[in-house]
Amino acid sequence: MSDFPDRIEELIREISSLPGIGPKSAERISLCILSKNESEVEKFVNIIQKAKENMHLCPVCFNITDKERCNVCTDSKRNHSIICVVEEVRDLFAIEKGKYYDGVFHVLHGRIDPMNHISPENLKMKELVKRVSEEDVKEIIIATNPNFNGDITALYIQRLLKPYDIKITRIATGLPKGTEIDFVDSVTLSMAIKDRKEI
Ligand SMILES: [Zn+2]
Repeated sequence: MSDFPDRIEELIREISSLPGIGPKSAERISLCILSKNESEVEKFVNIIQKAKENMHLCPVCFNITDKERCNVCTDSKRNHSIICVVEEVRDLFAIEKGKYYDGVFHVLHGRIDPMNHISPENLKMKELVKRVSEEDVKEIIIATNPNFNGDITALYIQRLLKPYDIKITRIATGLPKGTEIDFVDSVTLSMAIKDRKEI
């Protein structure tokens, strides 16, 4: 047990709830924030608030954006007939980092997870079907995580889109089972997309 005052404990708890930050790092970050002067802290809080205020989901692909539609959807140089389906916005950014994928995206905002009562209705599935039926889509690349929940989500999408005349592929090669896409390096991820298999 640490001897931090309650307020600081609260701050540490809050920061350690962020992804990828363990208790030790949360402690260091909290103490670093507290060592700053008032105006520095205010500036920091303002930046977070401003980022949050101006952000919303792109109505087409559900990426985050501060414009009407996101940078990917408004880019006319990209191939809008290929849609890569990912679980989270962070997966989209992981793929974008590699700069090899030139199609567009669809962010589900989660995965089917029976243990946690997350069903297709809780995800952007209806919206995906709407895009496939209304836009000129030739291929859907399913890039959900290669683990149990990601696989059942992929299977669900495959069945859902079966009635449509499109190619459905799943990224696979090089991705270790049970891994999460946003932790995979961009070379492996680019291979996984390049070597996608039709399902
Ligand atoms: Zn978009």
